[in-house]
Amino acid sequence: MRLTSLRTRIVWSYGVLIVLVVVMLGSLFGTLVWNYYYSSAVSSVLQRAQTEAVLHDRMIADEPIKEKARYMLQNMADGTAHLQLLTGSGELVVDSEGFGGGGVTLDTPDVRQAMAHDKGIWRGRDPVTNERIIAVTLPVKEGDRVTAMFRYTASLVTLDTIIRNILWLTVLVGSFVVLLFFAMSLLIANRIARPIRNLTKVAEKMAEGDWSRRAALNDRDEIGRLADTLNTMASELTRREKLKEDFISSISHELRTPLTSIKGWSETLASGDPADVEELNLGLAIIDRETERLSGLVEDLLDFSKLYAKSIVLHPEMLDIRKPLGETLWQFEARGQRESVAIHGETGDEPLLAKVDADRMKQVFINVLDNALKFTPKGGAIYVQARQEDGYARMTIRDTGCGIPPEDLPHVTEKFYKGSSQRSGSGLGLAICKEIVELHGGVFRLDSAVDAGTTVMISLPLLTDAQQQGEQQERA
Ligand code: ADP
Repeated sequence: MRLTSLRTRIVWSYGVLIVLVVVMLGSLFGTLVWNYYYSSAVSSVLQRAQTEAVLHDRMIADEPIKEKARYMLQNMADGTAHLQLLTGSGELVVDSEGFGGGGVTLDTPDVRQAMAHDKGIWRGRDPVTNERIIAVTLPVKEGDRVTAMFRYTASLVTLDTIIRNILWLTVLVGSFVVLLFFAMSLLIANRIARPIRNLTKVAEKMAEGDWSRRAALNDRDEIGRLADTLNTMASELTRREKLKEDFISSISHELRTPLTSIKGWSETLASGDPADVEELNLGLAIIDRETERLSGLVEDLLDFSKLYAKSIVLHPEMLDIRKPLGETLWQFEARGQRESVAIHGETGDEPLLAKVDADRMKQVFINVLDNALKFTPKGGAIYVQARQEDGYARMTIRDTGCGIPPEDLPHVTEKFYKGSSQRSGSGLGLAICKEIVELHGGVFRLDSAVDAGTTVMISLPLLTDAQQQGEQQERA
């Protein structure tokens, strides 16, 4: 049989276990009861037979066998046991219930045993009355010969009834216990299986694309946690999906604006007066600027898709990290002046030797400084610092701009995430920066407070002296 549902499986395993345990305990109990009752019955008949036999034998040792029998039957204490006297060959001489002689020969196992000089004990059906009995036969010996046998029998009817009742009761209690456990395991299985079924339903809906579904489970157990995780996953996926959609729509918009402007100007220039140099220069300048913007966007997109496919390859070399940083600062000087934002650079005197891809690191610095300038109003300042700390080159770029709201902060380094600001670009910049720094084995962190400014912290592992020597030898 194929067990498909968890519930069936649990009920079955519990059920089999319980049936096994109950059957085992029941059989053990039954056997004990059976043995106890029958062996005490046997021993009481045996004991009685032995005491009486010893007693009578002594009293009437020399009497002939018939006389012995008569004497004994007269002196039987009570009627609970039934006494028979047999000849040495098993022929019935006399019987306490009045049967006598008639040539009946007994051949039950107890008689056979007594003929072989031993006491015979047997439990079974009496061949004459067909009643279940216990029989104890004791041999009377003269020298080596068995001359007679005393056979005591007791009916087992009452005892059998008692034992049968006890066994029935055992079976009844056992069945009740089994049923009770079956019901309990069904209950337990339901408790386990129901939330899983609910979860599966929700997960199926999610798989069909309905991400608005949430699992409603309040249990604080493993399954409850699974439900929480599923819900978190769904929320996260929905959020990312939305980010992606926003990104696509904004990037299309971002691409369309320069394209419209380029197309507009080329049409204007084509149909305009070629002698109007001023117009021509203005148009060309705008076309140039917009083309620049477009290629920047395309660059971001390319970088991003490479990052996404994890196929960015670094070309690291040993260099002073202050070099690409200094070059970037120098590059931004003019723009800072134009936008009335003071840029203070403080890079120390000590070289910060690390193994980095200079172009990629420059890309990171440009991106971060570009953001700092974009989001810092006129009259603000940007402080750039580079120093050595615990084997790391730590660079901080702090601005006094608008800052990032705390709810946005954890997400700005994610791909596609753009703040609410109108000045945002593709929303890929910081994601790319973070990825590049991490590829270098470094850490990229952002700290920000609204209206107070933003600090970007970049840490890159510095080369140890041994590593520096190794690099130099390699170069030589
Ligand atoms: P974008 O190309 O849109 O600037 P980024 O990944 O570089 O994309 O930045 C993501 C978002 O983080 C920005 O849209 C902006 O909202 C926020 N942000 C980044 N740097 C700063 C900063 N220095 N000051 C304030 N907000 C910032």
